[in-house]
This record gives sequence, structure tokens and C-alpha cells, in this order.
Amino acid sequence: MVRRVSIFGATGSIGQNTIDLIARNPDAYEIIALTGGANVTQLAADARRLRADVAVTAHEEQLPELRDALAGSGIETAAGEAALLEAAARPADWIMSAIVGAAGLAPGLEALKHGTTLALANKESLVTAGAMLMATARDHGAQVLPVDSEHSAVFQALVGEEMAAVERIIITASGGAFRDWPLEALEHATPDEASSHPNWDMGRRITIDSASMFNKSLELIETKEYFGVRPDQIEVVVHPESLIHAMVGFTDGAIMAHVGPPDMRHAIGYALHWPERQSLPVHRLDLAQIGTFTFRAPDEVRWPALRLAREVMGIGGLAGAAFNAAKERALDGFIAGDIRFTAMAEVVEDVLTRLSADPGLSSAQITLDTVRQMDHLARQRAAEAISARG
Ligand code: NDP
Repeated sequence: MVRRVSIFGATGSIGQNTIDLIARNPDAYEIIALTGGANVTQLAADARRLRADVAVTAHEEQLPELRDALAGSGIETAAGEAALLEAAARPADWIMSAIVGAAGLAPGLEALKHGTTLALANKESLVTAGAMLMATARDHGAQVLPVDSEHSAVFQALVGEEMAAVERIIITASGGAFRDWPLEALEHATPDEASSHPNWDMGRRITIDSASMFNKSLELIETKEYFGVRPDQIEVVVHPESLIHAMVGFTDGAIMAHVGPPDMRHAIGYALHWPERQSLPVHRLDLAQIGTFTFRAPDEVRWPALRLAREVMGIGGLAGAAFNAAKERALDGFIAGDIRFTAMAEVVEDVLTRLSADPGLSSAQITLDTVRQMDHLARQRAAEAISARG
């Protein structure tokens, strides 16, 4: 049966890996929508190659460029936020949510309202509005499948298991670019240095977030929201080889570990073929050659983001939206050279401290509007904290 597929964030790292899998078996898929941001050239090339129904850029000013690139192809073009929502509402069997950042939330929610299976790479959706996202899926009989490698690993380790038998979930962290740097050197780390991951080839923002562990801190919250476990049941362990992606510890003391190469096509492919497994073009591990798996406890002085994530989980409500927005703004500031690497966590902590006086932070009123308001406020506060450091 031909499956109707849409890919949001098609021009990014996850989007391109998704296209790689789909393009290997083009007769099995009908491509409904492909969306991107600034990279209109890539978007148009993929839309032609996969014969998409519609190509959407998030940036309205780039619509003429997209139209030109697709002239004569018969492929519809559109731009802007409303066009992304319209594309998400088009009937599809499977939608990849791989826009980076808070911008991924609204299209994902729209897809779920139409009962579509949502393969969720955009972890920010769960961090900012996890309860609302999962409730929307339940209310509309839709399925959310995790694509983050750790969460896909947990999901796979839970097949056939009861959640009542789960004692803990252990997610692994490579430690990113600065795992072994002297602490005093972190202050002078540059965006280029932070963008070089030891094991994974990912988009630039998530790679820098791996070096600061903000990525892992988002994943802690993502684990709580997706699997419905308590914060004290989630552990992070540094595993420099990035071969065990996550482990589930059960009440009988057993631990199920998911082992695989650091290649996102595994988690994407699992979500694409779920509930079946199909052959995937990923490297097969030679365990004798690998020899050793090592683990160490995460150092919360090196990575204060982990402590902040636990505070955010304790507050609940809209604290995840504030945390993510402050983190995104701090990351922009670091990339632009306005603040140092180590100041990103300071900025996020400042924002959380200032917003803690606002009863809205822990409010249970989670709607797209309240999430957006909190996102906006936290970005403003983060901008103030950044200029105070300038
Ligand atoms: P990239 O930066 O490589 O790609 C992001 C995609 O989102 C691109 O298509 C980009 O378009 C598009 N985009 C950017 N801004 C907007 C916007 N405001 N509105 C709509 N579209 C936008 O990111 P990744 O692929 O690395 O990550 C995507 C998501 O997946 C993130 O949430 C990340 O945390 C998560 N993830 C990624 C992993 C990885 O291995 N890369 C692993 C696990 C999770 P363009 O490039 O054309 O501007």
C-alpha cells in the first residue's frame, strides 16, 4: 500500500535523513508536503525529485524564489506560518516533525488533530507543551512516535512491557564537544568548536546544545512528558561511545539497553516502519572490535543545564516553554558572539529566577496561546539578560 507522507523541516539534518530512507523506495510513498526554511534551493530540488504535492517555506519573503525554482513542475508552493498549518492539515498517513525549535509545535499539533501518525523529532514540542500534545493525540486517535534516538531506544525497550514494571529510564549522553575540556577553557569556547560533535552528525543548533548539555536537559523533560514517568525515575549517564542510546530498568532489577550505531536513520526508520521492523541502511556494529562500553556520572558543574531541567520539571506548567525559549535565545546570543559559552546557562537561570515570581510560570493553563505568550516573555527576559552581560 502506498503511504502518504509529509516532512516538516525537510531541508534539515533529520529531514534529509528521512528523505534518504524514502528515496530508496519511492514507489512505497506518495509525498504530500515538504517544508523548509531558508534553504529554498534544497526544498525545491527535493520537491521535484520526490514529486511532492506542495512545497512550503516558512519565510514569506522567499516565496518568489521558491515559485521560480518550481516553475513548470506542477508542484504547489506556499509560505508562512498559516501555510505550514494548512500543509499539516492535508491528509497524510505519516508526518515527520523535524522543524528545529518552538516553531515545530503548531504544525505538529495540527497534524495530530487530523489523526495522523506524527514521527516526532522536534523535542521542543514535548518540552514546551508535552501534556497538550499527548492529550491532542489521545483525543484524536493519533499516534506520536519518538524519533529522538534516546526516546526511540526507550520506546523499543518497552515493547511488550507494562509501564508499571518500569523503575527507571536511563538516557545516555556523549558529553558533546567539550566533554574532556578543562573547565576553565569552556568560557573561551567558540561556536565553531561547539559545533563539532565527537560521534553524531546533526544540525548546528542541536550540536551546540549537546556541548552545553541543553540538548540532554530537553531530553530529560521529553522523557517525562512522553513516557509519563516521575523526574526521579529518569537518569542521565555519560557514555562517550554513543552506542547505547538508552536503557530501561525494571522492577526485577533487569536493564534493557538499546545498542546501535550513531545514525539517526535507525530511529527515523523505526518510526517509519513501526510497528514492523524493516531492513535499514545503517552500519552493523562489530562488538568484539568495539571492545568496551564506558560510563560516567554527569558533572553538573560542567553541565548546569541538567540541574536547570530538573528545576523546570519540578515547577511544571509553562516552565518548559520558558526554559526552551530562554535556551533558544541564549543560543542565538552565543552564535552571534554576544555571550560566552558558559553564559548560556547563566542567562537561562536568570530568566527562570525572574519568571518564578510570575504565577503564569507554573500555570496549568497550557494552550497554544499561553505557550506562545510565555515563549515571548522568556525570550524578552533572555535578551535583557544577554544585554546586561554585553
Ligand atoms: P536543522 O537545523 O538541521 O533543520 C531544521 C529544519 O527546520 C530545516 O528544515 C529548517 O529549514 C527548518 N526551520 C528552521 N527554522 C524554521 C522555522 N522558524 N519555521 C519552520 N521551519 C524552520 O535541525 P535538525 O534536523 O538537526 O533538528 C530538527 C529537530 O530534530 C530539532 O528539534 C532537533 O532537536 C531534533 N533532533 C535532531 C537530531 C539530529 O540528529 N539532527 C537528533 C534528534 C532530534 P532551513 O534549513 O531551510 O532554514
